Amino acid sequence: MHASPSAETLSAVESATPLVEMRSVVKKFGHNTVLDRVDLQVNAGEVVVLLGPSGSGKSTLCRCVNRLETIDDGEILVDGRPLPLEGRELAELRASVGMVFQQFNLFPTMTCLDNVTFAPRHVLGRSRDQAEAEAKDLLNQVGIADKCDQLPAQLSGGQQQRAAIARALAMRPRLMLFDEPTSALDPEMIGEVLAVMRQLADSGMTMLVVTHEMGFAKSVADRVVFMDGGHIVEQSDPSKFFSHARTERARAFLRQVG
Ligand code: ADP
Ligand code: MG
Repeated sequence: MHASPSAETLSAVESATPLVEMRSVVKKFGHNTVLDRVDLQVNAGEVVVLLGPSGSGKSTLCRCVNRLETIDDGEILVDGRPLPLEGRELAELRASVGMVFQQFNLFPTMTCLDNVTFAPRHVLGRSRDQAEAEAKDLLNQVGIADKCDQLPAQLSGGQQQRAAIARALAMRPRLMLFDEPTSALDPEMIGEVLAVMRQLADSGMTMLVVTHEMGFAKSVADRVVFMDGGHIVEQSDPSKFFSHARTERARAFLRQVG
């Protein structure tokens, strides 16, 4: 006899839906196939670190997930909904997926506070008071509450990147994409940005992170995905990947970065 599914088993099924699911995704630039039948899932609450040599397709993969790029074949589902989306649904997708780039891309003529409140006010329609209260809270979380009234150029690189993270978080995203967030930073500022990312991971945020910071990958990633030549070559938990990478390509990569 079959028992009808309880609320508990239903919610277990629901939470098993990956937040991001890429199925056999192909992306070409002209004749250059940059993503070649990529399958990837990121589950809610998971931190996935994407590693691979320059040109392997890591940035393109991230850009496809929030539809800064369109794909040529395959499927991408975010929260169970297939891309491409248009209009309001696309705006919702962009709001639910935060992205932080190597170059901080803050609005140069706006204060830190205005950078963080801009999209909540103009895309989500929040009142100035509410947006500013939330922004101050976020700037406090990333450790730059005292920089509210400064312009980006008055901040250090590490502070600008932390402001960029606060700006992305202000949209209350379900997923955060980080594309080499510390690669443009002076070495002494890398730690403060990684600390904010670690804190975010600990808070349960779902994250897809491209980075060359192997210490971060080892200690924060739930899963490491290694790409080369537009393929996912291997993926495993970080302890396995860093001690016993299966493929010679991954071992060669690790020798170079290590
Ligand atoms: P990664 O981030 O791993 O370094 P990318 O995703 O930036 O790799 O690039 C993968 C490949 O796609 C490279 O060969 C790169 O030259 C190419 N590529 C990336 N963006 C574009 C673009 N907008 N137009 C043409 N080729 C591109
Ligand atoms: Mg890149």
